[in-house]
Amino acid sequence: MKKPCELCFSITRLKISRMNDLEKAKELVKEKFTIAQVAPSVKTALGEAFGMKPGTYVGGKIAAALSELGFNRSFETDFGAELRIMEESAELKERIDRGHGPLMTSCCPSWVGICVKMYPQLIPYLSTCKSPMEMVSSLSRTYFAEKRDITDMGVVSIMPCFAKKMETKKGQTDVSLTAMEAVGWMKELGIDLNKIYTAPFDTPFGMSSSAGIIYASAGGVSEATLRTYMKLYADANFEKHLYKTEVISDGVRKITAKAGDHEVRVAMVVGVKAMGPFCKELIADIKKGESKYDLIEVMACPSGCVGGNGMPNAGQPDAIKARIASLKKYDEKADLKTAHQNSLVREIYASTIGEPFGDRAKEILHHHNFKEIFN
Ligand code: SF4
Repeated sequence: MKKPCELCFSITRLKISRMNDLEKAKELVKEKFTIAQVAPSVKTALGEAFGMKPGTYVGGKIAAALSELGFNRSFETDFGAELRIMEESAELKERIDRGHGPLMTSCCPSWVGICVKMYPQLIPYLSTCKSPMEMVSSLSRTYFAEKRDITDMGVVSIMPCFAKKMETKKGQTDVSLTAMEAVGWMKELGIDLNKIYTAPFDTPFGMSSSAGIIYASAGGVSEATLRTYMKLYADANFEKHLYKTEVISDGVRKITAKAGDHEVRVAMVVGVKAMGPFCKELIADIKKGESKYDLIEVMACPSGCVGGNGMPNAGQPDAIKARIASLKKYDEKADLKTAHQNSLVREIYASTIGEPFGDRAKEILHHHNFKEIFN
């Protein structure tokens, strides 16, 4: 079993072995029809590398910059978050119906790596959903490529952290660049986000509800999932039926919501420090046949992806706070706040995926072996 310090060493090795990712991305853009996708957290942070105020939303400017870098299409990873919300809600329903213990989120590769290496007993409780990044990449290579008759495609993601590179090992994404690596590329070509025009992200993966956006901060994954789970499977409204919020320990919060005839109990675990004690207690509870939670969100970064180590001003609390405030404002103003109401999400389920957590969905949007990727 690896200790945390060995894990940090592995991540450093990964950083070194992936130092040529920028060169790989440049080659892909030159040689193939290449798609870029951008994580929601990055859109609230990238402006800081160009002197903008922390939290400034620069999504449209990034889409324009990606086109100047030579990408053929730019998609939003938020759309993958919306698909993950659909899948994870259906998976949660199945777990609750069968009484098969808690469902643990698996969208943070640092957490999944720690789980696989240090708490393998918990692997059966991990959601099998791929990360939003991998969902967009999978559908780019299937749904989008088939529609456009593209046989050879490159997929590059712009992500908040180095850990996302782990998922490219056996995944559908060719290269994952950190936000700062993308900034380096833009600056090399003289692109200045202050001066560039604004462009929309491309269809079909360029329109999301605010549920896909709040995924970027701690607690956002649970809230976005419950908004859909409660409406679709209990005809309840998350905000109206959320009735209890508790601090359980340092880095662990619990919320409870009334979902029709049952309660949904959710733990939100943030930061590597909080994971150890939480996982040990959870394993002990599972051995006794007890479960305090239905859904457990785990994020390695204390504020979620807005605090990723590949972002500008990495680790600066004020910058992170400003990004969270920006996400909240975006969510408050949004007309569309739930994934299941997104017409593009509905269309892709009707035409290609079928039922959430059904056979086709499991084939293209779910993991089949965590150890293969995260060991
Ligand atoms: S929580 Fe941190 S480590 Fe995990 S995916 Fe987000 S940025 Fe990466």
